[in-house]
Amino acid sequence: MERTMDFDLFVIGGGSAGVRCARISAGHGARVGIAEERFWGGTCVNIGCVPKKLLVQASEYGAWAEDAAGFGWTIEKGPHDWSKLIAAKDREITRLQGIYRRLLEGAGVTIFDGRAVLADPHTVEVGGRRLTAETIVVATGGAPERPDIPGAELGIISDDAFYLPTMPRHVTIVGSGFIAVEFAGIFRGLGAEVHLVDQDIRESVAEALTAQGVTLHPGRLPRKVAADGDGRILTFGDGESMRTDVVFFATGRRPLTANLGLEKAGVAVDAAGAVVVDEHLRTTRPNIYAMGDVTNRKNLTPVATAEGHALADTLFGRNPRGVSLRNVPAAVFSTPPVATVGLTEEEAAERGPVDVYVTRFTPMRHTLSGRARKTMMKLVVDQATQTVLGAHMVGEDAPEIMQGIAIAVVMGATKQDFDRTIGIHPTAAEEFVTLRTRTRVAGVAKAAE
Ligand code: FAD
Repeated sequence: MERTMDFDLFVIGGGSAGVRCARISAGHGARVGIAEERFWGGTCVNIGCVPKKLLVQASEYGAWAEDAAGFGWTIEKGPHDWSKLIAAKDREITRLQGIYRRLLEGAGVTIFDGRAVLADPHTVEVGGRRLTAETIVVATGGAPERPDIPGAELGIISDDAFYLPTMPRHVTIVGSGFIAVEFAGIFRGLGAEVHLVDQDIRESVAEALTAQGVTLHPGRLPRKVAADGDGRILTFGDGESMRTDVVFFATGRRPLTANLGLEKAGVAVDAAGAVVVDEHLRTTRPNIYAMGDVTNRKNLTPVATAEGHALADTLFGRNPRGVSLRNVPAAVFSTPPVATVGLTEEEAAERGPVDVYVTRFTPMRHTLSGRARKTMMKLVVDQATQTVLGAHMVGEDAPEIMQGIAIAVVMGATKQDFDRTIGIHPTAAEEFVTLRTRTRVAGVAKAAE
């Protein structure tokens, strides 16, 4: 006799991937349940992209007020009110959480506020209830990790940074990934003294951070953290130490797979704890899928939502499709921001000869503002086919510009396609279509040139 399951689909995790997958699947007519243990909308909405970008925007106004003087304005820069900013940010997040919940309810998804764990390949337990589903999706995301050093618990992680009761005057950030760089810009822009303790930071980003007044400690490793009244003492591997208000560990994230019952369901994880999936997002248990950060491949919200949507269409929409992780554009919302799509010069050069076009200039605004801030743009072009393999930019509006460039790169545009595109004048973006002089050749044929 055929067994009747409570749901066609049960989704564990109400973040970017899970909400999209649940909502679209229900729209296709599936009976869907979803559990969220912490906050609807997940990391991006609550403690990731959205509040981060709001804080980045907050941090920009001080410099704009200074820059206005070059255009004839007299603006007295007053103090910044951190608690007002956090309250405004929290109101916006509460609004977005409500939208996510209502979207699910409107689509007819059954919502569970609580932690779900797998009991077997077709059963989840949530809030003391056992629920069965034909298909289960694991979309539990990831969480920040502290380094394994004494006193690490005295440092904060990105989750905490959004809820600091007061704005620290002296912040020491450990890490060199995008979260470290972005928060360095945020705290510096809001007036703090910022130190960045990093292993390996890219030159162009290091230059921008230094120009903003962030003190870099390249190649240094933290050894321990100790409390000193309200402050912290951070000791480095070389024995030197520094007093700071806040030590902020931006030292990586781990997939949230512990105590989830994955082993009971026959779902394998890799050495980093990430759920192993094939190109169809299928785990080692055929009726269980995983997507988004819990699979630790490209940990970005648009990837997570695209995967959620594609899986829903595949399972219930009679439209089997996947998501390509090639040419995924990405940005770092540093000051100024960095944006990129496709291969880096180094990656492309490993595959064969490439023509590299680079331009560096002072953006028009800063010819009058006097701010020492450069924009850099780069195109990496396959020498044989003239296909644009990568586009990269450091400079104001880089993420906004790169989204459009990414369409061209995804479509396989050639350098000649870029060249025959008329620019919009006067913009920084037009430089991408007016790069005429090759800067250098990279790759295997370099020697032969
Ligand atoms: P999540 O959004 O993390 O959702 C997983 C959800 O599952 C969470 O809500 C969690 O509470 C819930 N959950 C976990 N376990 C259980 C359980 N057992 N039962 C029930 N619920 C559970 N990406 C960008 O594209 N652009 C950015 O600018 C950007 N900025 C970021 C800034 C920061 C500080 C951080 C931390 C991340 C940022 N990201 C950014 C990454 C982005 O937030 C993630 O890629 C995205 O949220 C992944 O979505 P997800 O659905 O896989 O996981």
